[in-house]
Amino acid sequence: MDDCLFCKIARGQIPSRKVYEDDEVLVFHDINPARPVHLLVIPKHHITSLATVSEADIPVLGRMLAIANRLASEQGSPDGFRVIINTGRIGHQEVPHLHAHIVGGSEPVGPMLKRI
Ligand code: 5GP
Ligand code: ZN
Repeated sequence: MDDCLFCKIARGQIPSRKVYEDDEVLVFHDINPARPVHLLVIPKHHITSLATVSEADIPVLGRMLAIANRLASEQGSPDGFRVIINTGRIGHQEVPHLHAHIVGGSEPVGPMLKRI
């Protein structure tokens, strides 16, 4: 995906503050953090969203979640964190490359959603 922002970050064509990288997954700081700890976990290969995953993506999805606890701890959220995967228009996904937000810090992040 030549024009995809997070593919470009994964290829190193756009700089990011990386905190973890392996063959399949990249983790970097969100450019506009919503909490003191705000990381983005992405598959290095392009997956548009959770709405488009296939059987072949199951290992990378597992890896994305399996590394979350250690990275949240190392980055300043040792007592828990929240994982958010916005999906599609209803989920308010702004960047169309699958990503998990890991948010946290030393204070609770607050209720899951404002009730409407
Ligand atoms: P979404 O709304 O798609 O779930 O979240 C997209 C996230 O990507 C936002 O939190 C936004 O701050 C972050 N973001 C957008 N552009 C960039 C960028 O160029 N670099 C980094 N590090 N984060 C970005
Ligand atoms: Zn992409």
